[in-house]
Amino acid sequence: MILTTTRLKQGDEAQCCKFSDALLSPSSVYGGLFAPKDLPKISSKFFKKERSYEEFALKVIEKFSFDLDINSFKKAIKRYRNFDDENSPIKIKKISKNLYINELFHGPTRAFKDMALQPFGKILDELAKDRFEKYLIMCATSGDTGPATLNTFEKSKNVKVVCLYPIDGTSEVQRLQMVTSKGKNLKVIGIKGNFDDAQRALKTLLNDEDFKEQLLKENLNLSAANSVNFGRILFQILYHLYVYAYLLFSKKIKDDESIDIIVPSGNFGNALGAYYAKKMGAKIGMIKIASNSNNILTEFFNTGVYDLRNKKLIKTMSPAMDILISSNVERLLFDKFGSVRTKELMDSLNKNKFYELSKDELKELQNDFMADFCTDEECAKFIKECAKDSNLIDPHTATCFKMVQKDKINVITSTAQWVKFTPSMIKAIKNENIIDEKKQMIKLAKEFDAKIPKSILTLFDDKINHSDVVDQSEIKNTIIKWIKS
Ligand SMILES: *Cc1c(COP(=O)(O)O)cnc(C)c1O
Repeated sequence: MILTTTRLKQGDEAQCCKFSDALLSPSSVYGGLFAPKDLPKISSKFFKKERSYEEFALKVIEKFSFDLDINSFKKAIKRYRNFDDENSPIKIKKISKNLYINELFHGPTRAFKDMALQPFGKILDELAKDRFEKYLIMCATSGDTGPATLNTFEKSKNVKVVCLYPIDGTSEVQRLQMVTSKGKNLKVIGIKGNFDDAQRALKTLLNDEDFKEQLLKENLNLSAANSVNFGRILFQILYHLYVYAYLLFSKKIKDDESIDIIVPSGNFGNALGAYYAKKMGAKIGMIKIASNSNNILTEFFNTGVYDLRNKKLIKTMSPAMDILISSNVERLLFDKFGSVRTKELMDSLNKNKFYELSKDELKELQNDFMADFCTDEECAKFIKECAKDSNLIDPHTATCFKMVQKDKINVITSTAQWVKFTPSMIKAIKNENIIDEKKQMIKLAKEFDAKIPKSILTLFDDKINHSDVVDQSEIKNTIIKWIKS
């Protein structure tokens, strides 16, 4: 399969790109991204056969006919054996009639980012080694991409990582996961600003020729681990396909039944994975986009206007979704309306801070998507309700519950484990404040007979290895200085 660019001018020739090249160098012309032109189709017979996650994933990846050897993927997927259950990286739980939860947080950093970044890290590391190249991987994080990227490259000899996080934008556990990371190849930089500022800084650096030149002098190529990288999206298609297959082969749904998938969304990578899964043949009815009070996606899917004017980022209890510039929507626009129209819309967003779809275009999106949002109060209410049924649901996952429809089969995509957000959990369930996070986390876990991973408990006593906090204007120099040291 070949990837192609999301932005083109009328008359331009389409730019094609191999999977491995897009992985190593994810930006495309006119500031666009790479996206698949066609996706392989999966038959209902294939879905109905019972398979382990690993086997299923490899068989699906084979269908893409990427330019990489299937053995590279095999080695990459093996990383899932380090998750809680070596036989399956995900857990699918039935909560009530017609309601399932697809838990994607059983990896090393306790958020769904591990689902993609663990195999992605292995593939990228091997690619770099095979090509005798060294890479600097940059990531901007709203809380979970950072820890997952640092973890996946922790032992790499071919890859250095710089992680930018907004100092007031993450939970304490997320911050500790980053600033305590070991490994001389890792650099964590706090920036004054929010996630959109971090992501903007990242995009600017990716296109900064002087920066790239300076890195090349140190024998480093530049790439990014955010979901602007298609290499991540691939692994985020698989679990949506698998949840459908699982429900089918375990006879929880009938052949002709479809499922709705509810996704807590920020940068739209996870939801995009569900959309691609639907296109590949999984019987998915609606993909429901859940947001917090930063509800720009709710507005977009309901009105067709993506509008940044007069919007300010609000801090909520689901920080990984505190995003206004949702990068992967671009891939959806490209898939539905083509690269010329996508460039037009994205240019309008850059220039006028908004774009507007036509009525027909909006209708086209609404065939696949619905969207709604939860305020923090609503979120807290759902956390408390779930706790009454002995389920500890993290604040991101909680935004999904508003969109459950009783007469449909609903799959809620659970993106993080509650342990990353103890203060919000305690507030929602007990209406108490945090005095000692570790103690209160342990107490809550005992009460619910829940497990806390050791890696989270030890964080509170680990040494802080990264204390840099810089202005946005200093990011570039800070990185160069570190590279040269
Ligand atoms: C990253 C993240 C999201 C948002 O996912 P996108 O793919 O960016 O839409 C939601 N919840 C959690 C816990 C996350 O870490």
